[in-house]
Amino acid sequence: STPVVPLALGHHFADALPELALPWQAADVPDPQLLALNEPLAGELGLDPDWLRTPEGLGLLTGTVVPEGATPVAQAYAGHQFGGYSPRLGDGRALLLGELTDRDGQVRDLHLKGSGRTPFSRGGDGYAAVGPMLREHVISEAMHALGIPTTRSLGVVASGRAVHRETVLPGAVLARVASSHLRVGSFQYARATDDLDLLRRLADHAIARHHPGAAHAEQPHLALFEAVMAAQAELVARWMLVGFVHGVMNTDNVTISGETIDYGPCAFVDAFDPATVFSSIDTGGRYAFGNQPVVAEWNLARFAEALLPLLAEEQDDAVAIATASLGRFRTLYSAAWSRGMREKLGLPDGLADDVVAGLAGDLVELMRDNHVDHTGFFRALGRAARGDVEAARGLVLDLAAYDAWAARWLALAPDADAMDRVNPVYVPRNHLVEEALAAATGGDLGPFDRLLDAVREPYVPRPGLEAYADPAPESFAGYQTFC
Ligand code: AMP
Ligand code: MG
Ligand code: MG
Repeated sequence: STPVVPLALGHHFADALPELALPWQAADVPDPQLLALNEPLAGELGLDPDWLRTPEGLGLLTGTVVPEGATPVAQAYAGHQFGGYSPRLGDGRALLLGELTDRDGQVRDLHLKGSGRTPFSRGGDGYAAVGPMLREHVISEAMHALGIPTTRSLGVVASGRAVHRETVLPGAVLARVASSHLRVGSFQYARATDDLDLLRRLADHAIARHHPGAAHAEQPHLALFEAVMAAQAELVARWMLVGFVHGVMNTDNVTISGETIDYGPCAFVDAFDPATVFSSIDTGGRYAFGNQPVVAEWNLARFAEALLPLLAEEQDDAVAIATASLGRFRTLYSAAWSRGMREKLGLPDGLADDVVAGLAGDLVELMRDNHVDHTGFFRALGRAARGDVEAARGLVLDLAAYDAWAARWLALAPDADAMDRVNPVYVPRNHLVEEALAAATGGDLGPFDRLLDAVREPYVPRPGLEAYADPAPESFAGYQTFC
């Protein structure tokens, strides 16, 4: 008999954009074992965590059991990968199971990663390994707890299938929840078909789903572009403020919703350095920590290019409109970054922009020159704001530069409590993530669960978690990520 799945999944994307939606089904899962379940998120979605633990629930989390009437699809998209255009990427190891409506009435995608080959798989096997899927689970939960827009992980299920990488690894499927999986690459794909109706339907779908205000604008498709630009400027500023390196900012990994997506080679910086690159394949440093804002702007230019036929009748006019609009990105980004820095430094709202920008800019230089631990230094500044003179001073080598900077900052009477509400104690530090994933791959979920606990409440120091706030040991230098 067909298992009863106590939820309904919509198929609005598949219905509205069949050219971008290839009906497909997940591979079988030989031996499903639940590794991580996001109970708070299940609650938001109105799903019973106890049901998700049943064989049918694990079936939903891996796509082997789908609700009646659902239409799982592999999504088509294109993308610039490291600057080179690929006309046909698409879900090569993922599926959109469908949409559900959460307790706040928001439509969310339920999506799988690691669910087997699809017609978009090219040379890939369609599978994912336990380590990288648990990595996405813990880092996306950390981002969510930090208040940064992100896709979420509902759960990770080990498949019981061996996955062949450099070595043989245990396989897993991640169930991902997102505002949607529309990306810049979706628009590039639609544009490349030369089907103007498809491009318009995609744009209107994106407006309805993410930026409904744009529908009432004089030029709705320009308003869509500007809403996405604003969301991405805000998002990348948030990454920079917390020391997050995405690592693979290809246009297929840039969402229309403004959520962080695709936790492959991402990592948090330890020592503050704009040149930081973790990904083993980013040999040119295209996606280095400090390059992220200009890469975001570049990606938005690709989005504007895809939208051109919707912006004006004449190509020249469309280009002029898009160029003028994109010219505002730097102002939007700087405003978002300065606002965040003002908060991180505990400074009042009304302070003049140039005072904040000057202070923040000089601090960044000081941090870079002294290789301070990014996360630890901002918490130490909170203690400095309480009068602990050596708290942050003790972390830098150039004392004269610090003293000069701190005198200017302290004269503005920073609010230490406000600082502690925005500067995290706990981020998923690379050495802790690696330790947790290695243990989990070997069957011990203890370190993973403890790390998850720490990063889910990032602002409150807790006894027993002191080591989670420490910088990486010296021996951990030269950290690389692979994906
Ligand atoms: P990503 O770097 O994760 O954004 O993926 C880029 C493209 O490669 C997407 O089209 C993925 O679906 C595809 N891909 C990544 N890993 C695999 C895999 N193991 N099997 C098939 N396709 C994959
Ligand atoms: Mg991707
Ligand atoms: Mg990836």
